Amino acid sequence: MPTRTQTHTIAGDCIVRFDGQRERHQRGRVLIVVKPDDTVLVHDADGYQPVAWLTRPTDLSLTHDPLWLVAVDGDETLRVEAAGDVTVADHDVSDAGVPVGDCRCGGPLVRSNGSVVCLDCDDRFSLPGGATVIEDACECGLPQFRVERGDTFECCLDYDCGSLLDAVSDAFDRAWDCPNCDGELEILRRGGLIAGCENYPECDTGFGIPDGTAVGECDCGLPRFETTSGERCLDTGCEPA
Ligand SMILES: [Zn+2]
Ligand SMILES: [Zn+2]
Ligand SMILES: [Zn+2]
Ligand SMILES: [Zn+2]
Repeated sequence: MPTRTQTHTIAGDCIVRFDGQRERHQRGRVLIVVKPDDTVLVHDADGYQPVAWLTRPTDLSLTHDPLWLVAVDGDETLRVEAAGDVTVADHDVSDAGVPVGDCRCGGPLVRSNGSVVCLDCDDRFSLPGGATVIEDACECGLPQFRVERGDTFECCLDYDCGSLLDAVSDAFDRAWDCPNCDGELEILRRGGLIAGCENYPECDTGFGIPDGTAVGECDCGLPRFETTSGERCLDTGCEPA
């Protein structure tokens, strides 16, 4: 998904017709927002609710001059045309998220939906689950994140500066024995990071590495982890004795 997408606003004296379950015909000085997913919201002076709307229509056409908007979704149609002076404008709208520092381009970085995105250059970095963006910057200038995967790791947002996979592999690759054969567990990326048996595919043993720190050995021989939801074995199916 691009960081910035076009949004349109229409402000002025408009005629709004809605055909569907509830038919409506309205005229007024309204503010209409057409969102990047084509949702159309018609606001008047009253309250916070739109006076008319169509959520994610399958078809949308919008001409600026003369103003003519048609949004169609199934048997519902929303039409807007100018009745008087109308201003139509296009806007770049971005993700909004918690500010987490500065991009290498100097632009602001925000955290949104498990990613960190730059509002200026559209750079986007995905974060592993449970990661916290920290103040310490990488040599490249980007912020780093901190995450627990058996130990606490700090990595640059940009994998090119050193991936979490490499850091966790350095710490734990072949550190634990497979409970189902005589192999050792390797650190691999399968979506998230897993500890998987080196004898795959003969042995398909594999465990997701929890968001927590290793705090000792389980009776079964695998490590135990301290996580926010309590202590557990690397094997989620292993019940403490
Ligand atoms: Zn940037
Ligand atoms: Zn870096
Ligand atoms: Zn195995
Ligand atoms: Zn266990």
